[in-house]
Formats: sequence, structure tokens, C-alpha cells
Amino acid sequence: MSWNLIGHQWAAELLQGHIRQGAVRHAYLLTGPRGIGRRTLALRFAQALVCENPPAAGEFCGVCRSCRQMAAAQHPDLHLVQRAEGSQVIKIDQIRQLERGLSLTPVVAPRRIALLLDFEEAHPAAANALLKTLEEPPGQAVLLLTAESAEALLPTVASRCEVLRLRPVPPQQLSAALQSRHGLPPQEAETLAHIAGGRPGYALHLHQHPELLQSRRQALDDLLDLLSADLIRRFDYAAQAAKDRQHLIHLLTLWLSFWRDLLVLTHQAQVPLTNVDYHAQLDALAALLSPQQVQEALRALTRALEDLPRFVNPRLVAENVMLAFPAVGA
Ligand SMILES: [Zn+2]
Repeated sequence: MSWNLIGHQWAAELLQGHIRQGAVRHAYLLTGPRGIGRRTLALRFAQALVCENPPAAGEFCGVCRSCRQMAAAQHPDLHLVQRAEGSQVIKIDQIRQLERGLSLTPVVAPRRIALLLDFEEAHPAAANALLKTLEEPPGQAVLLLTAESAEALLPTVASRCEVLRLRPVPPQQLSAALQSRHGLPPQEAETLAHIAGGRPGYALHLHQHPELLQSRRQALDDLLDLLSADLIRRFDYAAQAAKDRQHLIHLLTLWLSFWRDLLVLTHQAQVPLTNVDYHAQLDALAALLSPQQVQEALRALTRALEDLPRFVNPRLVAENVMLAFPAVGA
């Protein structure tokens, strides 16, 4: 398996082809949800670009100094740009600093490489400032951007990049890789592959942070409990949950995945479930609910998650969700 990736082989092969053909582009945009492997793919590509002893064109050895520095994102010719902790955006100053850095002669590698993470977080002025560099990077510099989607960026930015859209890794493939490469027991690998929705990075993150799995179980158990609760208890819960907006967003995102599973089951669609460890509860609910009830809950959750980042009153948002949930066996 090339580049030692979980999934995304087509993307690795495409990038290797560009190296082999001497046709590396100025700029690439790797898109997909968080944890899917955008950063990992970008760093593997960067390794292949700087390796001192590539076993073949487009490959990297993984052991030379350049490979090891690049794998750790510590290579002297790598420029890492991301939103600073405590800041809301990637700032224009960071882009100006990048431009100055890229214009210098590379230290050891044939070319400088810029890795701009989650570029949808760039301030519009910062994104605009990057346009000229994207068009004509100094030297042989290569710019690697990551984002949730191309649509999340200014069209002028996305159109200057070759876009690679990373898709979720099929759960079976991810589960197998979690077992063979990371030594996870089969049962855990299987469950995590589904819960993570085919995102290898997120599956490993969950494996390393069992407390996240615990809080997920709590959120789903609360949901099951609330479905048979009266409106007073539901509103009490909403008031508590709405005290922390980030917590509420996290909670509703988990609930959304649960209702999506219910939609899959009520439509008997051949799509893998996310919450496989709740299969019995999902089956029981799917037998009780109509597709319309499921869709209404999904609509309310989707709207709530759109509203929450800007809406002033998270409690009202949470209450609307509670009103949209059907009453089950109350
Ligand atoms: Zn190497």
C-alpha cells in the first residue's frame, strides 16, 4: 500500500503521478470532513517531494532526515499556517509572513512547501492576500490547502487549486486497518469505524480519548430517555444543555447521527449505520416511528445546527428541537 495511508489510494496515486511526470501543480486543495486524513495525505505528499532517498519516483523512504522532519511537520522548508489558538481566524499577517518565507531559497529540499490547514477559517482579507501567491508561487513552492469543502472557500481561491475531495473510508476497510496497523481489537475497531463515519483520524482520536466515547453514550442515552419524557422534562433538559453553546452543538450533532440512522432504517436503505452499538434501540424505535416523524426531527436538528453558531438564544433553539421530537411510549 503506497504512502501508508488508510483509504484515499486514488488521491495518493494521483499525486504520485504528478511527481513522476514532473507535473506537480502550484497549489492543491484537499477537502473533506475533519479527521478524514487531509493533513496526513498532505504531509505524505510533502515527504515524497522532499525525501533524500526515494525508493522510486513519487515514493519516500520514511527514514531519512527530511522524511522524519516532514512527517512531524518540522521540516525547515515547510511553512505551516493555521488559526492561532485563541484567535477566530487565520490572519492576513500570517499570509504576509508566509509570502516572505516562500520567497527565500529552500534550506535543504528542492522546493518550499506551504501547508495551510482549515483554510475556511481564513479572514477574507487573508484569503485575498493569498491569491497572487496561489497563482504564481515563488521558486518551485507548492501550496497545500485543506478545507471542509471547496465551497467553503472564496471561489477565486478554490479555482486556483487542483481540488482533491476525500471521501469517507468504507467502514470495513477502516476497521481492518485499525486492527492490522494500530492493534485495535476487532469489536472496538468495528464500532469505531462506524461511529467515526469512515474518518480514520477521528476513529483514532476516539480510541485515544475514551472519555469522548463515554460522553457520546451519555448523549444518546439522554436522547432515548427524552423521547418518552413530557415537555416539562424536555424543556428542563434543553435549559441545562443550552448553558454551553459548544456542548449543545456537540450534543445535537450526535443526535443528528442517531436520527440519520433511524432514517436509514425506516427507509430500509442499504447504507452503513453510524451508531452500530445502538442497533437494538434503533431497530425498536424504527418500528414505532413513521418516516415523517423521523424527517421532522432531522429537519429541526439540521436547522438548529445551522442557527446555533449565530443565533443569540441557544435555549430557544434547544426547545425547538424538543418540540420536534415525537413522543414515544410516554
Ligand atoms: Zn526519505
